[in-house]
Amino acid sequence: MKEQQPLKILLLAAEVVPFAKTGGLADVAGSLPKAIRALGHDIRVAMPRYGRIDPVRFDLKKALPAFPVPMNKHMEEAAVLQGVIGQDVPVYMIENAKYYDRDGIYMYPDDAERFVFFCRSSLEMLNRLGWCPDIIHCHDWHTAIVPNWLKTLYKDDPFFAHTATVYTIHNLAYQGIFGHRVLEIAGIAEYGFMYHPEMADMIEVVDFMARGIFFADVINTVSERHAQEILTPEFGEKLDPLLRDRRDRLFGILNGVDYEVMNPATDKYIAQNYDVEHLENRVANKLALQREANLKEDEAIPLIGIISRLSDQKGFDILGDVIDHLLDLDLQFVLMGTGDPHYHEMFSRVAQVYAGKAAVFLTFNAELAQKIYAGTDMFLMPSRFEPCGLNQLVAMRYGSVPIVRAVGGLADTVKDLNPQTGEGNGFSFEPHDRWALFSAVVRALENYKYKEAWHKLQVRGMTADFSWSASAKKYVDLYYRALAARGKEIKLEDYGLVEE
Ligand code: ADP
Repeated sequence: MKEQQPLKILLLAAEVVPFAKTGGLADVAGSLPKAIRALGHDIRVAMPRYGRIDPVRFDLKKALPAFPVPMNKHMEEAAVLQGVIGQDVPVYMIENAKYYDRDGIYMYPDDAERFVFFCRSSLEMLNRLGWCPDIIHCHDWHTAIVPNWLKTLYKDDPFFAHTATVYTIHNLAYQGIFGHRVLEIAGIAEYGFMYHPEMADMIEVVDFMARGIFFADVINTVSERHAQEILTPEFGEKLDPLLRDRRDRLFGILNGVDYEVMNPATDKYIAQNYDVEHLENRVANKLALQREANLKEDEAIPLIGIISRLSDQKGFDILGDVIDHLLDLDLQFVLMGTGDPHYHEMFSRVAQVYAGKAAVFLTFNAELAQKIYAGTDMFLMPSRFEPCGLNQLVAMRYGSVPIVRAVGGLADTVKDLNPQTGEGNGFSFEPHDRWALFSAVVRALENYKYKEAWHKLQVRGMTADFSWSASAKKYVDLYYRALAARGKEIKLEDYGLVEE
């Protein structure tokens, strides 16, 4: 295939903005396709039609009537609705009441089956649509079975004879590990479990993530730093031996931010719009946030924000260890997040003890998120690991200065301020350690006192380009690379897999 030729790409994801979101995966799946389309490629998205996605609100149209999808020895019915992202990215939504008519997105005992069904329906719908993709771009464990299928179940299917796969790892910690029954449901029981001499834990489990890594034509994760990190036992989540085997086809591409949506000059949810030329208008947002959060209204006191899933990954252990010391300082703190009940308790206590100084919203609220980006002076991310991290990018776009642990995508995007040279766009610390976190915050507070220098820091963040334009081009390169790699032979027997 010549490089100039536009590609046809099917992007598969379990969550996609604006339809369903729990984290950064949805942001990427909702914004990368717009940027790829802008480069002239025919990219389309598929996702499940969860019960919470209202067909009327999103003006979903019927794309395909119900058709049978093989699941183990029986058939399940899938129908397809069609919506759109932005102006022109088609989104196919797989419907099945039994699997998706539920309140949430994940965390059901039959999640493996639900996502196998989604993937199988997505492949089976293509022929019916008469649209054959050059690339199927899979994201995280929910869609990792697809590269596996194309090298086994569908390997002789002429429809997919020229289709290559790309597998993007957003979070290696969620691998989708299940038992043998899943192979039966997926119709690949005869190929058996995978085996790797350095991964004893893999025997007799089905690890979807591992299968995506093993079978995809190319693999990437969401920052260059993280692509290196996951080759090590510290960050490899026990899959580092397999990742090291595949390092010749493993790449790092930084996520972008949808600057059309994330724009303080046009944001509908914030009290006062502003841009880099009129940063003085930003203060109205700080006062509004203080009011909404029942914090003392004071434009001078530094206000630190966090928006996050409340999970161990995000470094709340070290934050918890030091939060009382932080709140002894002259600052305010606002946090929004949901997740681990242990952290719900921890932050509820903080809100109680430091009422007026600390505010905690144990909820998921996209509007409030925008107000926090626009109203805080600093944005804290002490992550244990962070494949890319989007919050620091959005925070910078909104003039909230990031304080981060130098790991993964945080290390690639936030450069520690050097007060001598004035270089840097935030504050970062290396060790996963409470006092390292504490001193980074103290340094930020010190610098906050120097208004001119602080203003420059904000401007640097706001004018940096973390849009999709550069990264979308890198994904297109990756698609071509996948097409080139497709012909390369995989030795299935090395992994205990039997070629039929
Ligand atoms: P992850 O995917 O690990 O959760 P990212 O930084 O990649 O982390 O993406 C998180 C995304 O989810 C961001 O867009 C962030 O604003 C959003 N988010 C996280 N928690 C909340 C919440 N409680 N309310 C609103 N948005 C949230």
